[in-house]
Amino acid sequence: MNKLNRREFIKLGLTTGSFLALGGTSDLVVKALGKRETSKKIIILGLDGMDPHLLEMWMAEGKLPYFKRLRSLGGFKALGTSIPPQSPVAWSNFITGTDPGGHAIFDFIHRHPENYIPYLSTSETGEAKKTIKIGDYVLPLSGGEVNLLRKGRAFWQILEDYDIPATVFKIPSNFPPAETKQKTISGMGTPDILGTYGIFNYYTTESTELKEDIGGGRIHEVYVIGDRVEAKLSGPTNTFKKNRPESSIDLKIFLDPVNPVAKIVIPDHEFILKEGEWSNWKRVHFHMIPTQSVSGICQFYLKQIRPHFKLYVSPINIDPGAAALPISTPKGYAEELEKKFGPFYTKGLPADTKALDHGVLDDGEFLKQDDFVLKEREEIFDYELSRFDSGLLFYYVSSTDQRQHMFWRLIDKEHPMYNPSLASKYGKTIENIYIEMDKMLAKTLEKVDKNTILMIMSDHGFTPFRRQFNLNTWLKENGYISLINEWKQGEEEFFLNTNWSGTKAYALGINSLYINQKGREGEGIIEPGAGKEALVREIAKKLEQITDPKTGERVILRAYVTKDVYRGPYTEEAPEIIIGYNRGYRSSWSNPLGRMPKNIFEDNKEKWSGDHCMDPSVIPGILLTNRKIKAKSPALYDLTPTILSIFGIDKPKEMIGEPVF
Ligand SMILES: [Zn+2]
Repeated sequence: MNKLNRREFIKLGLTTGSFLALGGTSDLVVKALGKRETSKKIIILGLDGMDPHLLEMWMAEGKLPYFKRLRSLGGFKALGTSIPPQSPVAWSNFITGTDPGGHAIFDFIHRHPENYIPYLSTSETGEAKKTIKIGDYVLPLSGGEVNLLRKGRAFWQILEDYDIPATVFKIPSNFPPAETKQKTISGMGTPDILGTYGIFNYYTTESTELKEDIGGGRIHEVYVIGDRVEAKLSGPTNTFKKNRPESSIDLKIFLDPVNPVAKIVIPDHEFILKEGEWSNWKRVHFHMIPTQSVSGICQFYLKQIRPHFKLYVSPINIDPGAAALPISTPKGYAEELEKKFGPFYTKGLPADTKALDHGVLDDGEFLKQDDFVLKEREEIFDYELSRFDSGLLFYYVSSTDQRQHMFWRLIDKEHPMYNPSLASKYGKTIENIYIEMDKMLAKTLEKVDKNTILMIMSDHGFTPFRRQFNLNTWLKENGYISLINEWKQGEEEFFLNTNWSGTKAYALGINSLYINQKGREGEGIIEPGAGKEALVREIAKKLEQITDPKTGERVILRAYVTKDVYRGPYTEEAPEIIIGYNRGYRSSWSNPLGRMPKNIFEDNKEKWSGDHCMDPSVIPGILLTNRKIKAKSPALYDLTPTILSIFGIDKPKEMIGEPVF
């Protein structure tokens, strides 16, 4: 662990590896489940992050007529979310009808206890076990595997047992898609072609824009020589070659000497872009060995030609027409959509929030890109809605979540990043996405007959994220973490400066706190048993008493001892404590990957300004339906048995919720 540097870490921990070359291993096209006529039908719109307070306010102001109408047809309630209210966890509650003790997703980020190395919690990739070396090449004899780490059965798998058809579009925490004959396509958690959660490329001649090692993107310095720019666009590492070089394609740009126009040339394509113009999807191929290449899709945005040349290239998405990793069931479903609509976003969360955070895209450019996402989503939705006539249709929208994350700063005057002039221009971004969803609901209502149950739901709501809390720094100052070099505090990352033999507890991920347990952690010191138990209670109690010296407010409403709140067989694998932050507070940007800045509190100076990784009581989601809701306080895991009961299916014993109608 101590020898790991940042670059290696990023490769190890937070990418899903490069196993793209061998593809989804099977070309078997599975037949989708047939069309059994069901007497009842269910349509569910999953609008990530839609907040009950905002919804209520804009309904009252008459801005959301169709939400209002749906409320009058049935009901509207705040929907209990998960502990913690992170999307992968919350959607897993909904998918399985359990809590994290039943599905084993506790946080965006988990760690390998033996070496403390973090990894993304929902999927893992394994390398090919047998390889053969020929000259410079290492040829795998079997495919690398990519596995979904979420446990428990998904509701559409249970529907399949009863021959009830379902289409599940981009539900989070389902990459690679759970095995089924139902039509599903993976969403949040689906990597880009590099095996990461999305790396953009940005080519610029302006040296002040150059930054090294930014998360989520690469900034390249380029030169204009004779109205021409030459660069490379990187693809996946070539696992077929001994030293695993990065694959790449040539990128040539010819600038018009007079007009703000350029011709972009990549293998198989050349196209013209005006300054400020986005390209449509372009297909790129990275050659590995003569018989293997990886296909991806990306968009180009010519930000500026003069005085400085600036070109943005989106993260390279898995090509849905020739998917290098499994992204749909049956495999042909993604291909079918690609044939009908052309290439479409496959990367889990398509909006490039990193490019906005790093100033590579400005607010308007970011929104333009997310508008492409939204338009694509709406087109495919219209298609799925028009052919839906039996069983269940679940359809997911990410733009609601992403826009609230990025634009909260412009509706919250107390936010450190509030900017009145930007607010006058983009202050209605969040309101507008709610209005857009109202229009989507209008179309859906037309399709709803007396046998159709319609549910609009979200996994959590939203609050401001104004102040960052460095939990590891707090643990250090309270004697729970010991450092190797005190004077290096704040400089080292990934616990590289942590003296594990003197460390009792550590925070990793956004809401998780672990005890450094003997026999579990590589360098654990706390014996399991009564002593550990007392330590967990002691830390939880102290955490709930912390106040922010700047505001006097309590920072943590509840520190949940997981064995008290989780049910199910995976509770033992959970972090010992889940942190429930107060409104306005969240884990710092440094904390999830084990960095320890000197100060416990910091203002949040990122554009990512709204959040939901707080206490569940602060940010419930929404449930709106055309049926009366009988449950007093419904929660995500109640919706799963609700779906089953509508089709007359008994609740499996592992599900912990109850039908809401
Ligand atoms: Zn979110």
